Amino acid sequence: MANELKKYGYRAGFYPVTQVKNISALKDPIPSLEKSGIYKLECQCGDQYIGQTGRSIKTRFKEHLRDYKSLLKNSNTNNSSNSVSAMAQHCLQNNHNFNNVVVNQLHFGEKGRRLNRLEEIYTLHYLSMSNKVLNDTDCIFYNNFIRFMFKND
Ligand SMILES: [Zn+2]
Repeated sequence: MANELKKYGYRAGFYPVTQVKNISALKDPIPSLEKSGIYKLECQCGDQYIGQTGRSIKTRFKEHLRDYKSLLKNSNTNNSSNSVSAMAQHCLQNNHNFNNVVVNQLHFGEKGRRLNRLEEIYTLHYLSMSNKVLNDTDCIFYNNFIRFMFKND
C-alpha cells in the first residue's frame, strides 16, 4: 500500500480528511480576501463551493459574480462549461440571489502544487460533512488516486 501511495506521490498516512482541522489551525492569523489561497462560497440555501486562486480571493469572487450576471442576461442555464462558475449556475437555476453568497478564506497559499493539494483536501473535507457541495469532483481532483479513494469510500 505504501508503494502504491508513493507511485501517486503520496506518503502513507499523509493527511486523512480528519486532519483538515490541524491544517486550519496553522492558517494565517489575519484572514483576508485580499490574499490568494483556498476559499469557500456559501449560498443562502447552504450549498457550498470550494475554490482556489493565485490572485486575490476578492478578485476571483468578482469573476463568480460576473458569471452570474452574464448568465442572468443570457438566461442560458444549460451552459455547463467548466469556465463558468458552478455557484453562479446554481444560483440561477435555483433562483437564489448571488448577492447573498458569502465568501470565506479557508487557507492562505501561493499558486502551485501545494495549493492544488490543499484544495483537494478541503473539498474532500466539506464533501465528507455534507452533500451540499457543488464542486465537480471529476474536474477538481488533479490526482486520480484521491478520486479513486473518494469514489470507493
Ligand atoms: Zn442556493
